[in-house]
Amino acid sequence: MVFRPPPRLGGYPLKRTMQTYSIRSLARNARSFHENWTAAWRSPEPKPAYDVIIVGGGGHGLATAHYLAKNHRIANVAVLEKGWLGGGNTGRNTTVVRSNYLWDESAAFYEKSLQLYETLSQELNYNVMLSQRGLMLLCHSQHELHDAHRRAHAMRLNGIDSEFVSRENVLRMVPFLDGSPTARYPLCGGLLQRRGGVARHDAVAWGFARSADAFGVDIIQNCEVTGIRRDATGKIAGVDTTRGAIDAPKVAIVAAGHTSVLAAMAGIRLPIRSHPLQALVSEPVKPMLNVVVNSTQVHVYVSQSDKGELVMGAALDRFQSYGQRGSLPVIEDQMAAIVRLFPIVSRLKMLRQWAGIVDICPDASPIIGKTPVEGLYINGGWGTGGFKATPASGFCFAHTLAKDQPHPLTAPFNLDRFSGGRLIDETAAAAIAH
Ligand SMILES: Cc1cc2nc3c(=O)[nH]c(=O)nc-3n(C[C@H](O)[C@H](O)[C@H](O)COP(=O)(O)OP(=O)(O)OC[C@H]3O[C@@H](n4cnc5c(N)ncnc54)[C@H](O)[C@@H]3O)c2cc1C
Repeated sequence: MVFRPPPRLGGYPLKRTMQTYSIRSLARNARSFHENWTAAWRSPEPKPAYDVIIVGGGGHGLATAHYLAKNHRIANVAVLEKGWLGGGNTGRNTTVVRSNYLWDESAAFYEKSLQLYETLSQELNYNVMLSQRGLMLLCHSQHELHDAHRRAHAMRLNGIDSEFVSRENVLRMVPFLDGSPTARYPLCGGLLQRRGGVARHDAVAWGFARSADAFGVDIIQNCEVTGIRRDATGKIAGVDTTRGAIDAPKVAIVAAGHTSVLAAMAGIRLPIRSHPLQALVSEPVKPMLNVVVNSTQVHVYVSQSDKGELVMGAALDRFQSYGQRGSLPVIEDQMAAIVRLFPIVSRLKMLRQWAGIVDICPDASPIIGKTPVEGLYINGGWGTGGFKATPASGFCFAHTLAKDQPHPLTAPFNLDRFSGGRLIDETAAAAIAH
């Protein structure tokens, strides 16, 4: 009798063929002056047809490809990227990861994501430089104190670490904060999630790309999707691109900032607004900040990078636009805010400023799941906070693509919630104004 191993959910794992990064391979390659490393991923020509096409080579698209191959054995997949991998919001964000959300749906989803982050470097054999240095949300009024207590209790009920920190202890942890009685914004306390922190954004995209490629996924850069084709019955048939037409029965739109542009190609109108969101980094200074500090009221958040730069983000630009630049008044407000919190930085020079385009839903929660068009799936509307969602988004969206059903963690984030009125209002947890 032939022995057959017991069936597993999603079938038998696909083989992943990639060079491992380890101290041994480093030493081996040092002997040949590091000239024999193989490329981290291939640059294949597009095939005429695939089982699944993912539009968008940011972190979410690449994570989806990785989990489709790894968990569901679907590797006849193309990730089509109009520019370069991670050149969208993935490579433009301020790298904060956390799961300090109020509502149960968000808490469960973002906590899953943080848990996946905690083992991601091992899973991908790629250092995503997760640094769980803690995330401190400052409270400047009694109202914010009440809100922070409420959020801390809600988080604990959901099994997520959270601590309310007194004013004195906030100042102990963040000594350069202006805690004086004459401070423009008085400090009343803080909400701390110790497991929050930062991760290296490029590394997350590159790690997922390397792994997906090793499973056999085709990652095709400089390939813009210009149209979405449907057959005579209305089902998805494929896409038109700047490198020719490609057929597929399933197309997944994972194109943050341009979700509604892509959806319109298939005749779908989404409840999404697209705005520029800016960030800045300062010149490097000696270590002065070892937690991520966020003030919703003063309107800035800041962390210090390994290089010593202060990495800052602030509010959305008020106007809607697809120009990845942003406007001067937001930068001025951001500078005023950081100086109010940390007067010590007033003479620091800013090195770089940039912007990405973020898609905002009315409830500041994402859309992830099926659409009314058979074979078309959407993963977007992540607004200002989708980097932290990257692993769980890929994990759950791959499930939806493979099984044609929502994953339990993302089922509440479907498109129907806007017509059914089941909004998940996370505007406050988004940490910045919308
Ligand atoms: C300044 C800034 C700071 C942020 N800070 C944080 C933070 O600290 N923490 C956090 O959690 N989140 C943060 N975010 C949000 C976060 O960056 C995004 O939610 C997340 O990166 C979205 O990832 P993605 O893979 O969906 O999108 P992207 O990385 O934008 O990938 C989408 C890709 O689709 C491609 N594309 C678009 N149209 C087409 C087309 N027609 N054909 C082919 N490809 C196409 C784009 O080129 C792009 O590469 C920030 C965003 C910005 C802009």
